[in-house]
Amino acid sequence: MIYFDHNAATPVDARVIEAMLPYITSFYANPSSLYKMGRMVRSAIDTAREQVSSLVDVSPSQIVFTSGGTEANNLALSLLGKHVAIAISNTEHPSITEKSDQWNNYKNIINVDEQGNVKAESFLNLLNVSNPPQLVSVMLANNETGVIQDIARIASLLKPENILIHTDAVQAIGKIPVSFSQLGVDLMSLSSHKIYGPKGCGALVVDKNIAVTPQVIGGGQELGWRAGTENVAAIVGFGKAAELALQELDARADHCLALRRKLEEGLKTIPNVTIFSEQVLRLPNTVQFSIKGIDGEMLLMQLDQQNIAVSSGSACASGAGKPSAVLTAMGVDSQIAKGAIRISLGKDNTETEVKQFIKVLKSFLIKD
Ligand code: PLP
Repeated sequence: MIYFDHNAATPVDARVIEAMLPYITSFYANPSSLYKMGRMVRSAIDTAREQVSSLVDVSPSQIVFTSGGTEANNLALSLLGKHVAIAISNTEHPSITEKSDQWNNYKNIINVDEQGNVKAESFLNLLNVSNPPQLVSVMLANNETGVIQDIARIASLLKPENILIHTDAVQAIGKIPVSFSQLGVDLMSLSSHKIYGPKGCGALVVDKNIAVTPQVIGGGQELGWRAGTENVAAIVGFGKAAELALQELDARADHCLALRRKLEEGLKTIPNVTIFSEQVLRLPNTVQFSIKGIDGEMLLMQLDQQNIAVSSGSACASGAGKPSAVLTAMGVDSQIAKGAIRISLGKDNTETEVKQFIKVLKSFLIKD
């Protein structure tokens, strides 16, 4: 099988599974228990906290483990309470857009341009509205197009106004260097299963001076920020995956970028191909494209029959394919947007797979 859907989920690295196994088979004590086995398990969580904190360049005490990126995003938005005005871009993940629809009473939307970039300056216009935002949330890298936003610039403009900045870095970590302090943000969301860790685990990175309002309340775990007995094996796996992601960051990025270039070269030999966000900084592993007159979901199914796994940009609502909200926000024509296919490469993909993909794609399009 050719797996080209790493932005949806990565395979779990064998070294991660090896690190996790003892915490499923042998060390099952509750990390809050005071006897020896409990203390061992607690220490494994502490190690994972250090490993994740190193990946994003913060102190371990700033990491709040969650069930994933969705929960981290939800927590970030809810921390200041319902009555606080927020601003988000119009290409955020549903765990931001849907949560803010349900939770935040005052919401401003910042539009992206046709390449998918937000203009940092547009946030400054919000300072003059009657209820200016106290929290701004903009993703570091987009899951569909791979577009990387200039979060450091947004933060530098908004910090003097005492506006909190949250960034969803779920797709960025492990693919590009990410430093919480260099970006100048206050909150950041992470997820394990995009960096070769297990599913169901993630983290909210929190500036030490912020008083988070916990959403899951109970036994006071995670310094009271997120109660519930810890998902120990998953946290250990996330920690190991973070350690490997940091060690192998450059090698993975170089490898993916070389493959992406080959892929794009191949795509450009096909008539009527649009590569989205081609003019701007993107993740090294991601390319989203559309072929005029070709339906993305149909193409996905055809590729699936050839054992090639990709993603279409569209979300299927009640069986009717809707164009991708991200591409729609970028002003892409709905027919072109409906043709969108996302390829997200990973560390174990090969040039042979890329060539095979292009060959198969062409075989669908060029009929005798
Ligand atoms: N944010 C982005 C940009 C994502 O791509 C995803 C998952 O696809 C999430 C958040 C949600 O993360 P999780 O699946 O860990 O809940």
